[in-house]
Amino acid sequence: MEYKAFLIKYAEIGTKGKNRYMFEDVLCKQIKEHVARLGEFVIRREYGRVFLEAESAYDYEDLIAELQKVFGIVGICPIVVEEVVEFEAIKNKAIAYMKECYGNKELTFKVNARRTNKAFPMQSMEINGEIGHHLLEECPNLKVDVHHPDIMLNIEVRNQVYIYSQIIKGAGGLPVGTNGKAMLLLSGGIDSPVAGYMISKRGVELEAVYFNAPPYTSERAKQKVIDLARIVSGYSGTIRLHIVNFTDIQLAIYEKCPHEELTIIMRRYMMKIAEELAKQNKCQALITGESIGQVASQTMQSLACTNEVCTIPVFRPCVGMDKQEIVDISEQIDTYETSILPYEDCCTIFVAKHPVTKPILEIIKRSEEKLADVIDELMEKAMDSIEVVEAKIEDLTK
Ligand code: ATP
Ligand code: MG
Repeated sequence: MEYKAFLIKYAEIGTKGKNRYMFEDVLCKQIKEHVARLGEFVIRREYGRVFLEAESAYDYEDLIAELQKVFGIVGICPIVVEEVVEFEAIKNKAIAYMKECYGNKELTFKVNARRTNKAFPMQSMEINGEIGHHLLEECPNLKVDVHHPDIMLNIEVRNQVYIYSQIIKGAGGLPVGTNGKAMLLLSGGIDSPVAGYMISKRGVELEAVYFNAPPYTSERAKQKVIDLARIVSGYSGTIRLHIVNFTDIQLAIYEKCPHEELTIIMRRYMMKIAEELAKQNKCQALITGESIGQVASQTMQSLACTNEVCTIPVFRPCVGMDKQEIVDISEQIDTYETSILPYEDCCTIFVAKHPVTKPILEIIKRSEEKLADVIDELMEKAMDSIEVVEAKIEDLTK
């Protein structure tokens, strides 16, 4: 079957009252941006429904895969359209549709008609009965089951008639751009791309920051982070990735602070810089891939110490997840293979053999005082060193 049109179902945004139009606008804009590369499409709104119509040839699999990346969509229904709003035409289209979709398979069905076009003389119940009757006659493989049908044949009678029975699952969530913007701390690992994806799914636009430590970290490690940002941008839309040269700060910490506290102090400066960047770029929150107890720097005490430098909210959507659960999502969103490439994001010389697992804030702060002479200048230098890369899915090097 060649489909020319799709009905786009959305759930949560339907419940937002007055904001609904704004939400629908954003959803339509998102759909438009996502499908732009795949052909010519028109996105149309009609009675609280969104339709996508193809105006050129396109690849069905690619289009569905792309629509499944648009947050806010819960279902994608390929529809056939009958322009003649008359019973005979509808009946014939419905029979042809069922034959083409389901062939001779033994299946049960139910007709579910909806008539919003009141000029059409039959009521919904009557349409259900009549179409059902003709289908039984024409398709001996089909039986009626009104309670648990295999096929729900939907027939919507509007200015034209829409026929569909398939609902392909969408990503859910809310359209990106309906809930502000956040700054993702993106490393080359498995967790932070998943964290960015999860928050973006709630309608939040993303920017990202990566702390680079050349020459201790390689060019390839940086490229890996750019690639991860590009994959995530396939869902969230373009991500401005801020690459901060963090080497001098790391060296200063290494030189002046107790080695078992390196990671925690380093993470506090990362958060400080990320917050500063967030404010400069109108982001209302930070996002990290932290998960309780995963490593020494993510115990409750460590998280408390890291968090203490921030004044804006820090979202940690992976916080209660097991590693395997995070891995499952990373596989599903296609970041996993890139995340496990073996380019370390942080040179091992900066990692202590026995890091503190229960840091005490007062002690950490006292250690940080040893940086007092240099840190302001180093922070300023780091902020001035920033390179910005616009990560877009279409630039992904495969
Ligand atoms: P990930 O898999 O996301 O790298 P991780 O398990 O390796 O996480 P950590 O290295 O402790 O954990 O980092 C915790 C979080 O801090 C990361 O999820 C990320 O949000 C942030 N982070 C760590 N290193 C960097 C970095 N070099 N640049 C930007 N953010 C970072
Ligand atoms: Mg990491």
